[in-house]
Amino acid sequence: MPVPVLDDHLAACAGCAEWAGEAARVTRRARLASAPAVPDLTAAVLGALPRELPGRPPPPVPVSRTPHCAWRSWPSGSPRRSSPGRC
Ligand SMILES: [Zn+2]
Repeated sequence: MPVPVLDDHLAACAGCAEWAGEAARVTRRARLASAPAVPDLTAAVLGALPRELPGRPPPPVPVSRTPHCAWRSWPSGSPRRSSPGRC
């Protein structure tokens, strides 16, 4: 139902307006209620994972075709050029 049509109906119908107001209050209470305490299952869940996951393995990391250029691996590599003017 389009919002303007709903708003027009709620403005003219006391029964639906009362119901909509109560629904909004219930929704707000449910959203603001604190979550119950639960145990931390992180270690148990991670420990239950298989050593290898099903499916294809990830593709290999591409190797740079220009190993002479240190800038292409920066910042993990040296920021100095090993062969100035070649990159
Ligand atoms: Zn109504």
